[in-house]
Amino acid sequence: MKDMAALHTKARELDAQDPLAGYRNHFLIPKRPDGSPVVYMLGNSLGLQPAKAREYVEGVMSDWATMAIDAYTHGHPPYMAYADELKPLLMPLVGATQPEQIAILNTLSVNLHLLLVSFYQPTDRRYKIVVEGRAFPSDRYVVDSHLRSRGLNPDDALVVLQPAEGDHYTPDDVARVIAEQGDTIALWLLGGVNYYTGQLLDIPGITRQVQASGAIAGWDLAHAVGNVPLLLEDWGVDFAAWCHYKYVNGGPSCPGAIFLHSRHVGRDLPRYEGWWGNHIKTRFLMADHFDPAPGADAWAHSLPSLLHMACMRASLELFQQAGGIQVLRQKSLQLTALLEEGIHSLGSSRLSIITPTDPAQRGAQLSLRIAGADRSLQARLAENHVVTDWREPDTIRLAPVPLYNSYADVATLVETLGRVL
Ligand SMILES: *Cc1c(COP(=O)(O)O)cnc(C)c1O
Repeated sequence: MKDMAALHTKARELDAQDPLAGYRNHFLIPKRPDGSPVVYMLGNSLGLQPAKAREYVEGVMSDWATMAIDAYTHGHPPYMAYADELKPLLMPLVGATQPEQIAILNTLSVNLHLLLVSFYQPTDRRYKIVVEGRAFPSDRYVVDSHLRSRGLNPDDALVVLQPAEGDHYTPDDVARVIAEQGDTIALWLLGGVNYYTGQLLDIPGITRQVQASGAIAGWDLAHAVGNVPLLLEDWGVDFAAWCHYKYVNGGPSCPGAIFLHSRHVGRDLPRYEGWWGNHIKTRFLMADHFDPAPGADAWAHSLPSLLHMACMRASLELFQQAGGIQVLRQKSLQLTALLEEGIHSLGSSRLSIITPTDPAQRGAQLSLRIAGADRSLQARLAENHVVTDWREPDTIRLAPVPLYNSYADVATLVETLGRVL
């Protein structure tokens, strides 16, 4: 336990010097019976509620109560402009350079289908889609069912990227698939940060490899946005989609968003359309002919949930006030490094971290493989007020989040883990 005392001391010092320490008070953290906050390590799964979210939600409710239909044009902000007002806060998280590149809409799985409608244009020769072997299940279901809906057989048209060895994908793995499949691949859809291992893929490098082979590079950034800095426009990414209820703290079932590279903005792509995607200037003329909104907003079908955009607004303001994702990333690197150090200090031969050791290849999350453990381990952590999750067959995921986790949280987690092991 000598190491443990040293870990707590180090954590206390880091907290005392942390310029972002105060942001924790802007979130509602579930409490233990004694009233102190639990150690919440699951911002990668469901981000915590920003304290201001309720006020902004009540703002939407009260505008509805007092103005009714007039709130569309005169609410605070007007319902019609709510998504537009969030865009300047969201753009820096993903590296979009113009508002037309992003749209807030639907949920992530739905948006993947909508983007495949537009970007997956199979020909007799080029018709395959590549996903990674450890994709989040929904992505696999989306691609599988999408291929079937186009009359293709996933056994033939779905290619699975696998690591040559171990748990991580390398540029060589991508090159191997390209060499084997040649010009039969139409599109790649990969997770920027893998939900299971926490690996941050080389998004710009893989995008270049994929595009050099003549295919479209699409990214699922559910575990990347709000976690690591992204420069989607600079990196040349064709399209991306993500959700806002993980690191972006928009609350459960919050709408997601899509990104289109500027070279695709304004292109006449095949698309499923609805009235909210019609240009605002002509939307209420209620014409039979669709007049697309500029850019990604043309993919919208309906007004996204205002109550959830109110929650998103509370969180995105905090990202901005904290100095942006680059500043948060600096703390995140230190938090995760302390977690890694703490886990090593336990000296348990049962533990192995399956997330890359190179900080450039990971975000906040560390995934811990525990030999001989089962779900009850995660339950015992929970009994001790340390919130983590369990992924079959043998892994717990831990994500210290710079906006609301303290270094002391990390030390408490490590100590508790040592005890329950
Ligand atoms: C969380 C997650 C999803 C699910 O998103 P929904 O908005 O619930 O559809 C899909 N893909 C990945 C990679 C995820 O992490």
